[in-house]
Amino acid sequence: MDWPERIPAGDWLRGASAVVVLSVDVDAESPVLARGERYLNHLTTMSHQAYGPRVGVPRILDLLDRYRLPATFFVPGVTAERWPHVMENVAERGHEIAMHGFTHRHPVHLSEGEQREEIERSLKCFFRFGVAPTGYRAPNWEMTRHTLDLLGEFGLRYDSSLMDDDRPYAMLSAGRPIAELPPHWLLDDWEQYAFLPEPDVGQQIEAPSKVVELWSAELEAMRSFGSLCMLTLHPFLTGRPSRLRGLEEFIRFALSRGDVRFARADEIASAVLGGEDAPGTGPAPQS
Ligand SMILES: [Zn+2]
Repeated sequence: MDWPERIPAGDWLRGASAVVVLSVDVDAESPVLARGERYLNHLTTMSHQAYGPRVGVPRILDLLDRYRLPATFFVPGVTAERWPHVMENVAERGHEIAMHGFTHRHPVHLSEGEQREEIERSLKCFFRFGVAPTGYRAPNWEMTRHTLDLLGEFGLRYDSSLMDDDRPYAMLSAGRPIAELPPHWLLDDWEQYAFLPEPDVGQQIEAPSKVVELWSAELEAMRSFGSLCMLTLHPFLTGRPSRLRGLEEFIRFALSRGDVRFARADEIASAVLGGEDAPGTGPAPQS
């Protein structure tokens, strides 16, 4: 496999020892429906996923308001269509909305044509809400080289799916500069909290105290390396009361260090790309 060509990156730390991006993947029912439309009739499974947009998102938005923190919401097209108020509320509260596939099927399992269709449908759906996304995250972070090339082709400015660094970097995708903002399973709530019998999306119910300890230890060490702490949250998981309190504890820990900055993903991408591209510059609506 050919690795994408890396190019020099701009200063994104801007004096901080580490930067936290609070990324919120509003999957809702999409990962379940991606396994089969039959789950539309599984009322309990659907309700478990609906907790995210119904309860989790408003609570996370309130928490962000309380601490005046920016965040980036990755929204699958299926979620945007089923829960239009999520798009409206997140945009109204001043947060970034970025792409997360249309159906939440993993690009590694899709043909090149299907991958293109996922991006086209997502863009069309977002434009209907007046949102021009500049970033993308592959469902389950599972992408191919073709996915990356499509992002460049469609004029997106960054991706957040690859794991070969813990600092953002710049590369060429289809001949255009694109930033990578690496995530990791360690900083994802899915591995800690996802439990669902049918379909099996995980079998974990960990104590929030353990999760806060895990994430805080990682951030503390990241301060020595100038890393990007890409926290990944799912409202149907982290929206539950004790977990939300755990998230607040982590936020307070980060703020208490005094040298940790919080930023939206598009802001980091813009800095990595040399600050030439202001947030909000992305693909143009197509007729
Ligand atoms: Zn997802």
